[in-house]
Amino acid sequence: MDRVLIKDTLNHIGKSITLFGWVNSIRKHGKIAFIDLRDITGIIQMVDIGSKYQNKVGAEYVVKVKGKIKNRPEKLINPKIPTGTIELEIENLEIISPSLVPPFPLDTDGYEINEETRIKYRYLDLRRQRMKNNIILKSRIFTFIRNFLVNRGFYEIETPILTKTTPEGARDFIVPSRLQPGKFYALPQSPQQYKQLLMVAGFEKYFQIARCFRDEDPRHDRAYGEFNQLDMEMSFVTQEDILQISEELFTRLIETIFPEKKIKQKPWPRISHHEAIKNYNTDKPDLRADKKDKNELAFSWTIDFPLFKKQSQDDYFYGSGKAKFAPSHHMFTAPHPDDIKLLDTDPLKVRGLQHDLVLNGYEIGGGSVRIHQLEIQERVFDLIGFTKEQKGQFEHMLNAFKYGVPPHGGIAPGLDRFLFVALGEPSIREVMAYPSLSGGQISVMDAPNYATDSQLKELGIAVVKK
Ligand code: ASP
Repeated sequence: MDRVLIKDTLNHIGKSITLFGWVNSIRKHGKIAFIDLRDITGIIQMVDIGSKYQNKVGAEYVVKVKGKIKNRPEKLINPKIPTGTIELEIENLEIISPSLVPPFPLDTDGYEINEETRIKYRYLDLRRQRMKNNIILKSRIFTFIRNFLVNRGFYEIETPILTKTTPEGARDFIVPSRLQPGKFYALPQSPQQYKQLLMVAGFEKYFQIARCFRDEDPRHDRAYGEFNQLDMEMSFVTQEDILQISEELFTRLIETIFPEKKIKQKPWPRISHHEAIKNYNTDKPDLRADKKDKNELAFSWTIDFPLFKKQSQDDYFYGSGKAKFAPSHHMFTAPHPDDIKLLDTDPLKVRGLQHDLVLNGYEIGGGSVRIHQLEIQERVFDLIGFTKEQKGQFEHMLNAFKYGVPPHGGIAPGLDRFLFVALGEPSIREVMAYPSLSGGQISVMDAPNYATDSQLKELGIAVVKK
């Protein structure tokens, strides 16, 4: 197709070319009209001499336009857009697809519009420049990360979505099985166990931009239902190696994709959990000098977490809320080697080899060196009060640990979380193409929704009305 992209129009001055895109705006001036055309690469002003087309098209129509690229007269130059020195003189305009008037304005940043309406019409909301930029930035971040890690010997490996519970401290989403009626899959809260088993399998360096599912209430920094993580795991590494590669990855990423942003301190400060609580009253301190400065990024590490916390009713997963201890991170985190004897005498004093990556007061991700010895894993299961049945749910891990396990560890920073904090957006949903809202309704489509009677029958499920 002889299509020219708007960003390339500057290379065609004096020539007649064909553009495709959306009508961004129309400004009528009697015998002449200016129609701005938009594609994914930019915006260009088009001149409708004799006003042949201005009344046939409307905002958001999709059109094919043929015309000549000309330099604009000096005083009509628009320095705000890259194509501001030129315009296209329309020779022919063809309507490909008309548009209704959109339900809300698309030329603002959109914060003022009701969010339910925005996500119902997300395909329109994403046309606004701010949203488009955010989604494109995310795509660039994904590409950067893939290149960075693959160049350092990592393999990108997928793990299942239909699986068994992965305890990360939230409620599971469950999916009924048709082939084994009465049984359910759980959607993964993270690929934690699969990635550890990939280390047992000998892959040594794994990553995945993984989808995680947690049934917990949304907040401005937490999407409802599902989110992504850059999930990483490495064998034969120390905690130091994990911190260093993560730090290098994010530092290079900022330098490449956000050159206008400044990292406050390099190398990133490392703060023990004890100091963080003592000095900042939180384990994710905001270390920015100027909290109003959108370009300041204060990364830090929080380390030396206690391995266990006192178990509360919220830790319903572990020991049915009756045991004394629950993991601070998760049950696969290794105790500090100097503290192993305290497992028998004073478990709350045991430090864990956990690390949290903190940015501007938000926890971007956590990780740890893992337990790779069967007896220690069993000891931790006992301390968190696992019953025989609960241990049985992790039999695959205990079995795997009998077959030659490399020492290993990793981390899993949330990329939506990172981007929303780095951009200073008011909510994580502003960097997601299709977020869900509180109450669980998803973007664009009408879900959750009822299953049909025949679907329920096939699954052997009866719905009890509350
Ligand atoms: N699976 C952990 C989490 O989702 C991260 C990790 O330990 O690597 O928080």
